[in-house]
Amino acid sequence: MSFTVVLVGRPNVGKSTLFNRLAGKKLALVDDTPGVTRDWRSAPAHVGGLSFTVVDTAGLEDVTDDSLEARMRRQTEQALARADVALFIIDARAGITPLDRHFAKLLRRGKTPVLLVANKTEGKASQPGMFESYELGLGDPIPLSAEHGEGMADLVEALLPYA
Ligand code: GDP
Ligand code: MG
Repeated sequence: MSFTVVLVGRPNVGKSTLFNRLAGKKLALVDDTPGVTRDWRSAPAHVGGLSFTVVDTAGLEDVTDDSLEARMRRQTEQALARADVALFIIDARAGITPLDRHFAKLLRRGKTPVLLVANKTEGKASQPGMFESYELGLGDPIPLSAEHGEGMADLVEALLPYA
């Protein structure tokens, strides 16, 4: 039995980097330009004995009148609707932003279970952001470095109840 894990969060927090690491492929578009992933895409992931489908999304951009933004938000909502669990990813180096707070609130109200993931936690620069993230009301953050592959065992353990 497989389950579906969707990666959500504002642009540039490392969703696509984590997707690539979990999927073991370079399927998602990773770029320094915020919001460069224009769509959501999925791939099978096999990590630490767990098999699941991982879904990368564009950031949960705030709604504007722009039709692309509206489309991206709709796609994210569709991805959430088919997920067993969502990983809400924050950039622990950047700290918690107003957009993080806004979407944490939306996710807390939604039906999909959410795990908080603090990414970019390699090195000490991430510690203030890690502690700040408790205020999002999504439980203890799971520290991760998607780029360096750190924290993957704890992530797998946190996903076990949904398998
Ligand atoms: P997305 O917009 O959320 O999909 O973010 P991306 O995966 O495109 O990553 C945005 C930027 O953050 C890229 O420059 C990545 O190389 C960088 N990044 C991703 N994960 C990490 C990490 O664990 N540590 C650090 N320092 N940078 C990371
Ligand atoms: Mg991306």
